[in-house]
Parts: sequence; structure tokens; C-alpha cells
Amino acid sequence: MFCPECGSTDKKMVGNICIDCFLKEFQLIELPKRIEVQICSHCNSKLEEGKWSEEFIPEEEIIYRALERNIKVADEVENENITLEIEQIRGTIANCNVEAIGEVQGTQIEETHECEVKLLKTVCPTCSKIQSGYYETVIQFRADSREIRSEEYAKADEIVERTLIKQSKSDKLAYCPQIAKLKEGYDYYIGSFKSGKKVAENLKEEFGGVIKESPRLISEDKSTGKGLYRIWISVRIPEFEVDDFVKYEDKIIKVTSIGKNSVVGVELSANKKHNIPMKNMEDIELVKKSSEVETTTIISKSPQFIQILDPIDYSAVDLNMREEYNSLNVGEEIELIRIDNNVYLLI
Ligand SMILES: [Zn+2]
Ligand SMILES: [Zn+2]
Repeated sequence: MFCPECGSTDKKMVGNICIDCFLKEFQLIELPKRIEVQICSHCNSKLEEGKWSEEFIPEEEIIYRALERNIKVADEVENENITLEIEQIRGTIANCNVEAIGEVQGTQIEETHECEVKLLKTVCPTCSKIQSGYYETVIQFRADSREIRSEEYAKADEIVERTLIKQSKSDKLAYCPQIAKLKEGYDYYIGSFKSGKKVAENLKEEFGGVIKESPRLISEDKSTGKGLYRIWISVRIPEFEVDDFVKYEDKIIKVTSIGKNSVVGVELSANKKHNIPMKNMEDIELVKKSSEVETTTIISKSPQFIQILDPIDYSAVDLNMREEYNSLNVGEEIELIRIDNNVYLLI
């Protein structure tokens, strides 16, 4: 065959030119002279193929991966062997050598390429959100018909902090850029909805109460028509606290514990335990605070009555005898609570 490039007639042909002419132009690999990799200077995550990857990898590894991603091996090459080497790193620029060996049409060829990898220090979208104080959720910590006590605020602060530390292992937006201390309660601004929801659940777990979410449209993405929402989550803790007296379904109950999903208490007139679902919080009415408990003395006992001294006017009050009063002795001090003109002894 005749090679139109060099005129030889006795050589192996590749397509319509001879192998030597083919190899003169041939390149085993293609590699840009310069590659840029964007790295977030705050969290070290990097931009790879349009995506920010959050896994931490050392700088050298980032350079090797950038080279690998940018090397294009020609289709005709067989048994290729590519060696990457970082010659030196000056500041943010790494000078690299890439050696490639491979076979084409039975002939082994070797190439060396030089490439400069530049690490561009920048700020990833997540870190830039954090820097600008971005938040997706506001937790409104409120109490039902009362003010929140300072110990409750301190406890809530602690729960928010603890939850966010735990969440930050899997959520970069688990942070609280702002706490607005309002008269009616605290507003905790939380970076992500996911972590905000967790914070609300943990507050409810500690204080009981009711959670309500209300999304508000903040803006609209004009290109997609999709709305951008911010979610307000109100955590309304009960008006009553442990040891207070409440009315529920016409029963007077002393609250013994407040949990995530229920209120537990003892019915005063029957000494019976009740478990009220937290979702019925609206129907639980606070009737007396634990601070309103009074102390009195037992004057006398008979099979029908137990007589006590009214601590207000020192008159004698007869109460129907009940089994629980058997252990009480005359002269003994006892606590009582007055609700709706009834006197309940607390044993
Ligand atoms: Zn030729
Ligand atoms: Zn970052």
C-alpha cells in the first residue's frame, strides 16, 4: 500500500496512512495544561463535576483526583499504564507530571505531560449560607397562658444546643444563627428544617406540649415557579406543671409527670391514676398551682368523718372518711388543696 504522507509502500497501514505517519500525530492521552479545583476554605469541601462533595480528603489526593478526572485515553490504546506525580506545590499551584505508556497497533509508546493544578480557595454554597445567617426554620418556644420561667429558658437553650451538636454530624446547616428573646417566648432560628424539626421534638420531649408547623412563602424561584418556604414551628408547652392541679373530663387530677405524649396524674377524689394524651392538652384546665397547697392539722376522726382545721378561719371542717385516711392520726399535719369549694387532703 502507498502512504500519501511519506510515500512509503512497504509499511503497515492504519486507515489510509502508514503506521509511522499515524504515530507521529498520535497521542496516548489528552490532558489540559491547567486544571482548576474549587475548594471551600471553611469546610474543605470541593467542587467536582458541578457538585460540592463534602467528604474530607487531603490536598494531594484532591490533586490526583483532579488529574485522573481530566485524563482522556485515546480509544486505540491498549495495556495503558499511567503514572501521576506531583513535582512540587507552590502556594495553591501544583506542578504535576503524567507519564503514560501504552500500545497502539502493537507498538509501545511513551509520553510525558505536564499539568498545573490550581486549588482555588472559595466558599461553598453551604458555608456562604451560614455566613449570611441563612435559616429555614424558626422554633417559637411558648407556654400556654403563662410566662416561661427562667429555668425553663435555660433548659430549652441547653436542649437546642445539644440537639444541634448531635445533628451537625450529618447536617451542616444544624446551627442557630439567632435567638430572638421576645416577651412571649424565645424564637430559635435554625439553619435547616430537618434539624429544626429535631429541636422541636426534643423540646416537646422535655416539656410536653403541642407542636404546630406553619410554612410561609418567602419568595418564588422565577425560573422554576417553585416557592421557597420558611417553616415556623411553634412548641407550646402546657400552662400546668408537675405537682399542679388540673381538671380533665370533670375530674380533678394532680399532675405527677409530663411526658412527650402524655400527662400522668392522680385523681384526687378517687386516688386513681390517669394517663391523658398530650394531644388533648386543650381540654386540660389548670385549676390550682402547687404553690397554693395549704397545711392544716387533723382534729378528730370517726368512722364517717375526718375533721380538720380550716387554715384560713380556723373553723372545723368535716370531710367524708375514705380508706386512704385510715393511716392519718389526730394531731398530725397534712396538706390540702381547695378547688371549687371542695377541700382535698393530699396524702
Ligand atoms: Zn507514511
Ligand atoms: Zn464550605
